[in-house]
Amino acid sequence: MACQVKGTAFITGGGSGIGKATALSFAQNGIESIALVDLNLPLLEKTRDELRTQFPTVNVEAFQANVADEASVENAVSETVKHFGGIDIGINCAGISGTPTPTDRMTLSEWQKVIDVNQTGVWLCQRALIRQMLQQESRGGREGRGVIVNVSSMFGVSGPPGPFDIPHYTAAKHAVVGLTKMDAKAYSRQEIRINAICPGFVDTPIIKQQIESGSMNPMFEMTPVGRPAQVEEISDAILFLSSPMSSYMCGAAMVVDGGFTV
Ligand code: NAD
Repeated sequence: MACQVKGTAFITGGGSGIGKATALSFAQNGIESIALVDLNLPLLEKTRDELRTQFPTVNVEAFQANVADEASVENAVSETVKHFGGIDIGINCAGISGTPTPTDRMTLSEWQKVIDVNQTGVWLCQRALIRQMLQQESRGGREGRGVIVNVSSMFGVSGPPGPFDIPHYTAAKHAVVGLTKMDAKAYSRQEIRINAICPGFVDTPIIKQQIESGSMNPMFEMTPVGRPAQVEEISDAILFLSSPMSSYMCGAAMVVDGGFTV
C-alpha cells in the first residue's frame, strides 16, 4: 500500500512551516481538496497561490481564522464544507511558542495566550471536526469516517531541558496529547481516527531566529541526530498518520525528534 491521502484536508497553521509542508505533501500524494486555515492572511494567501500554481489539479481554498475563537473555527469548518462537501482529514497544526519565562515570573496573560491557541484552539478545532465527521458516511475499509492529527511537541511527552522556560507551551502540548488519547478512544468506534505527532526541533519560522543566532546549537548537540528536522521530515510523518497506512494507530503520540527524548 502506498502512503496516499484522499478527499478533503483541513489544515490549521496552513500558511507556514509544518502546516504548509503538510499541504504540499498531501498535494503530492493524492489529496483532492485542501482548506488552508490560518490567522495570518498574507501568509495564507501566498501559500494558497503557491499551491494552486504548483498543483493545478488540487482544489485549494484559504480561510482566515483564529483557532482560539469559537465562532471563527465554526466558520472555517462550515466554509470548508460549503466549498468541498465534507472534511476527511483534519490537521491541527496552528501554534505559537510564547515568550520563555519561568513560572514565578510569568503573568496570567502570557500563560493564557499560549493556552488559548495551543490547547483550547486544538480542542475547538477537534470538536468542530468531530461534529462534522460524525455527519459523514464512513468511507469503509481502512479509510473510516475521518482522520485527525494533532501537532503536539516532544515537550508534550517530556519536560524541556534547563534553558527552556516554557511552562505554558509544555503544559499546552501535554494537554494536546491527553486530549488526543481521550477523543481517540471516545470516537474510534465511529471510525474517527485521532493521533498526535510530537516533533522535536524543526527548521521553521517559529524557531528560525534562534537557529540563526546560534542559540539553539547546544540543543542540537544534545540531539542524537545532531541537527533540527527539515520540515518535510515532519510532514512525511503527518502524511503517514493521515493515510490508511496507519489505520491501526489510535491515540498514539508519535515522537519524531531525532532521538532528543530517547
Ligand atoms: P510556524 O510559525 O511556521 O507556523 C505556525 C502557523 O500557525 C503560522 O502560520 C501562524 O500564523 C499560525 N497561527 C498562529 N496562531 C494562530 C491562531 N490563533 N489561529 C490560526 N493560526 C494561527 O511554526 P511551525 O513550526 O510550523 O509550528 C506548527 C506547529 O508545530 C505548532 O503547533 C508548533 O508548536 C509545533 N511544533 C513546532 C516545532 C518547531 O521546532 N518548529 C517543534 C514542535 C512542535
